[in-house]
Amino acid sequence: MATHTQVAVIGGGLVGKASAVAAAKAGFSTLHIAPEAPADRRTSALMGPSVEYMTRAGLIDDPEALGVPLTRIRIIDATDRLLRAPETVFAASEFGHRAFGWNFANARLGESFARAGADCAGLELKAAGLAAARRIDELWHLNLNSGEEVTADLIVGADGKGSSVRKAAGIGVRERKFDQAALVCDLEIDRGLDGESVEFHYRDGPFTLVPAGENRANLVWIDRRDILEAARADGLEEAVNARSQHLFGAIRVITPSFVFPLSSLSVEAAGRNGAVLAGESAHAFPPIGAQGLNLGLRDVADLDLCLRAANPGAFGWADAVAKSYAAARKGDLGRTGAFVDGLFGSLLSPHLPAQAFRTAGLWSLKAFPALRKRAIAFGMGQ
Ligand SMILES: Cc1cc2nc3c(=O)[nH]c(=O)nc-3n(C[C@H](O)[C@H](O)[C@H](O)COP(=O)(O)OP(=O)(O)OC[C@H]3O[C@@H](n4cnc5c(N)ncnc54)[C@H](O)[C@@H]3O)c2cc1C
Repeated sequence: MATHTQVAVIGGGLVGKASAVAAAKAGFSTLHIAPEAPADRRTSALMGPSVEYMTRAGLIDDPEALGVPLTRIRIIDATDRLLRAPETVFAASEFGHRAFGWNFANARLGESFARAGADCAGLELKAAGLAAARRIDELWHLNLNSGEEVTADLIVGADGKGSSVRKAAGIGVRERKFDQAALVCDLEIDRGLDGESVEFHYRDGPFTLVPAGENRANLVWIDRRDILEAARADGLEEAVNARSQHLFGAIRVITPSFVFPLSSLSVEAAGRNGAVLAGESAHAFPPIGAQGLNLGLRDVADLDLCLRAANPGAFGWADAVAKSYAAARKGDLGRTGAFVDGLFGSLLSPHLPAQAFRTAGLWSLKAFPALRKRAIAFGMGQ
């Protein structure tokens, strides 16, 4: 006999946990289908609107207690190209902010979100995976890999890039895989970053040091996969010191490193047939400009609004939520995807026009305060 729930959220990443809390707090009986997963070793720079949403939704208490404020961003063109961009620094104070955002360890955010979920009435966690999903007469029939069966009015696919929910709802996807990957690890550095995130732009991707408090930093190094694997095999610390151009003194690698393959992904719609997609099931791109989870949390904020506006007593309410959610997310997904694709493309492009465009862009940002302000507001998701 199948159990029934109004909303089933599939996926136990940060977006899944946040969506489950949003659905339960909006008053829906909610089943969170989330198999045990290895600890998420990534860190996320989350901007003002994301932090405000997490706080408002009760997912975190005090961002200061959980993350490290990002007060400046420095971009250094370390390519050996003919057309190189000027070194550019953005200070949050210049735009009237104390910080652009906060750098959080995903694992710590996950613990905080899980605590919020445990305190939610109407939210049940099922440590199982989704094996199959099909929709019959407005009702989703879900088979879990634990052997259990569940029916749900609305399903939320927060099940990552390979989303089964996306396939079951018949939502088309465009995906592009890159030769580049991202290596992450934690570092200890002689001279602390003091709130400054430093991006060295190399030919095959940025090498970014993100402040993690005191003299620690999180490294996000995007490069060709073979170069990253060679650096790991031949001595990561040496490669990291060379790439940092010794600007911060000696650097020590203090955790194991992890490599994430990179791709970009976009969907034709973020919701359809009583199913909605949130987070990387709906959008993915290389981690430049810190957009991925910020966009995922904006998905959750819109889902929250759509659910609160829904009338679960009316026939077809789940279809109505999927439709209003897809309409609400369309513009943001399109704009953000185009922004990151453009940024990544211009950084990697071997063609002079693209390099000239990027260089001119950074000169303009340096020279024109109004443009800087607009660019920063966009990057912060405002
Ligand atoms: C190196 C790196 C650095 C990044 N830095 C930033 C940053 O600074 N700022 C920022 O905003 N973003 C950043 N991002 C992006 C951000 O990490 C992602 O956008 C975000 O973590 C995606 O969360 P998610 O919950 O959508 O997906 P995931 O974390 O992939 O979670 C999906 C979950 O679904 C589960 N799942 C899959 N299939 C099933 C199934 N059949 N049944 C049940 N569960 C299933 C998986 O087990 C997984 O737990 C970065 C990404 C990388 C790779």
